[in-house]
Amino acid sequence: MYMKIPMSSPDLTDADRQAVIDVINTPNLSMGKYTPAFEKTFCDLTGAKHAIAVNSGTAGLHLCVRAAGIGPGDLVITTPFSFVASTNALLFENAIPVFVDIDPRTGNINPELAADAAKNIEKYLPRHSSLTTHDSSLKAILPVDVFGQPADMDAINTIAKEHELTVIEDSCEALGATYKGRQAGTLGDFGVFAFYPNKQVTTGEGGVVITNDDKAANMMRALRNQGRAPGDTWLQHTHLGYNYRIDEMSAAMGASQMSRLEELLTKREQVAAWYEARLSEIPGVEVPFVESFTTRMSWFVYVIRFDKKFDRDEIAKRLEARGVPVRPYFLPIHLQPYMVERFGWCEGDFPVTEDLGRRGLAIPFSGVMTEEQVDYVCMVVREELRK
Ligand SMILES: *Cc1c(COP(=O)(O)O)cnc(C)c1O
Repeated sequence: MYMKIPMSSPDLTDADRQAVIDVINTPNLSMGKYTPAFEKTFCDLTGAKHAIAVNSGTAGLHLCVRAAGIGPGDLVITTPFSFVASTNALLFENAIPVFVDIDPRTGNINPELAADAAKNIEKYLPRHSSLTTHDSSLKAILPVDVFGQPADMDAINTIAKEHELTVIEDSCEALGATYKGRQAGTLGDFGVFAFYPNKQVTTGEGGVVITNDDKAANMMRALRNQGRAPGDTWLQHTHLGYNYRIDEMSAAMGASQMSRLEELLTKREQVAAWYEARLSEIPGVEVPFVESFTTRMSWFVYVIRFDKKFDRDEIAKRLEARGVPVRPYFLPIHLQPYMVERFGWCEGDFPVTEDLGRRGLAIPFSGVMTEEQVDYVCMVVREELRK
């Protein structure tokens, strides 16, 4: 038996498609009414005072870094077990990521290590940062809600309060998740969501920042629009800004998708439940761990871990050959070539991150997967592990 399974698929309806067509039948393809309508869906969902839509999650993270006043040489505690964008947003401003290792069960930043780092920062500086704590200052903490599960944000906020740090919550994988009943993205000073096609909600490319901070929100609105402050004319630019605007087609698709958020999340929950029932029966396979304080997991990807005795990369090849695409999740950020070159990190620096990075494998996942497809993937995993 052979099936060709897609790694991920957007979950689009005719209504989502029609929303895009409605836009392209008007002359307003940017800066029209759909962008604020899309933004409003985030205020409605999360209760945040401001939502600022941009053209990627990465752009959203960068705007948070700028709005928080993080600049050259500033230190930000963050995690090496993430998609690179969470760290890159700091590097764009020449800030220095101070990595701490993660919780082995969830893959989220370990709050005890983060607390220790905030107290004893010099112990955690990268080898090549050539800084002393005299000429650098700890400004912020940037946790990531990995694979759709919120980080332990109460613990993070306690650290932030004690050391007067800004908290930027990278919720790009966790739209709709809840932590102790509170929405992901609302748990720090800033929250960021992303809408690449494999995310829970997609706009093709896009992102949204949420915050309750009026001043930061105004700044981010200016920075996404070439630095135009309120009152500036089209060719007046108060700040050094960017073109991080989302277009109206994307915003319209996003607003339509957001009106179906509950359905989108529920379908993904069903697929995750099918996987869990089948995969937890297979010896040598660990299924995702959901914390007690995760009151709702927002399934982004489905990452399983193999027992150390298996060669993950060899199994990955065999799964691919049988029509089951897979991805190692994540290749640790500190070991990416440009990071090694710039900061001098080595294998062994973050052992938990590296261990999960070696054993974890994302298998096909989306809200439109059928039970037959899930059956096939699980059968292939079972058979290939037995060989
Ligand atoms: C998807 C994602 C982003 C943003 O990605 P874009 O492709 O720029 O939208 C940022 N951080 C994490 C952890 C992500 O998974």
